[in-house]
Amino acid sequence: MPGVLAVLEQRDGALKKVSHEVLTAACGLASGIGGAVEAIVVGPPGIDTDSVGAFGGEKLFVVTHEDFKLYQPEPYAAAVVERVKSGDYTAVVLGATAMGKDLGPRIAARLACPLAADATAIEANGGIKVTRPLYSGKALSELTITSTPCVISVRPNTFTAKENAREVSVEVIQAPDGPNAAVRARTVVVKEPETARLDVAEAAVVVSGGRGLKESENFKLVEDLVDAFGNAAVGASRAVVDAGWRPHSDQVGQTGKTVSPQLYVAIGISGAIQHLAGMRTSRVIVAINKDKEAPIFKVADYGIVGDLFEILPRLTEEVIKARGT
Ligand code: FAD
Repeated sequence: MPGVLAVLEQRDGALKKVSHEVLTAACGLASGIGGAVEAIVVGPPGIDTDSVGAFGGEKLFVVTHEDFKLYQPEPYAAAVVERVKSGDYTAVVLGATAMGKDLGPRIAARLACPLAADATAIEANGGIKVTRPLYSGKALSELTITSTPCVISVRPNTFTAKENAREVSVEVIQAPDGPNAAVRARTVVVKEPETARLDVAEAAVVVSGGRGLKESENFKLVEDLVDAFGNAAVGASRAVVDAGWRPHSDQVGQTGKTVSPQLYVAIGISGAIQHLAGMRTSRVIVAINKDKEAPIFKVADYGIVGDLFEILPRLTEEVIKARGT
């Protein structure tokens, strides 16, 4: 019976959190349309794949090459396409991450098959229906997939990873080629952000600051709340990134990163449409703003109208008390 192929992501030989979300999305899809979940990961030798069975994968293909330490667009796409052609899959599921946004269209183009990008929900009941946000999240579009195989990328942090233990068999394949002279694009270096904090696109809690903080030094208040949560990242509006208060890697929004954490706290951010585009699918949104008419309150689940300089230290204190940290 045709199955679902989950394309996993690794960094430095460890599976990324989004890989477990992709497996969960693939399992949900497979339970609706039938078939098993198989997975593929492409990377350097020695990837730690122990968790694949725990999240529902029944067969894992590990395609390795010494030169796959960094994502290499053409060889990675070739490896996945080769797998799809050798197997029998209704759908290929991957993360709508920086890598997935590049890889998904390459796979779909090579297979001449449909691509549904950045899905926030997948309904599988005989057929496949995918929901994806449009117009900076102001509208949701529902796509019905009419031909298979298809490629679906899922928005990170939207499909909460669920354990679903399975016996997994692993096949390691040595890729014939790395990024050789024939490739048209090659990843040469990946620059890590200077901070040791979590990446804004991967954290369960994101605390973002905007121009309401008045000056870059006041981001210390945001960082204190982030540290109090522990599993959190610092985010920022474009206004403060443009002002040089925060690096671009922190920016949330249309021209920054798209995030969907469990909790998004917007502090001194007005809620311009371009900012909302990057965070409105967050599970719970809390906004602190002194202007009760600020548009951010339209998407917030909890709104605190007041001066952030008074509220933030008290909020941080309460989080520390509640978490016993
Ligand atoms: P402001 O709009 O100035 O808001 C500051 C807020 O702080 C106000 O609501 C104010 O009431 C509040 N405030 C002030 N003092 C206090 C206080 N003491 N206590 C509590 N609240 C206080 N923006 C993004 O964020 N991300 C993007 O990716 C992005 N991409 C863009 C792409 C394009 C093509 C364009 C044109 C714009 C883009 N923008 C983006 C910019 C966006 O339009 C806004 O200008 C920006 O988001 C505003 O940032 P802000 O909310 O920090 O600042």
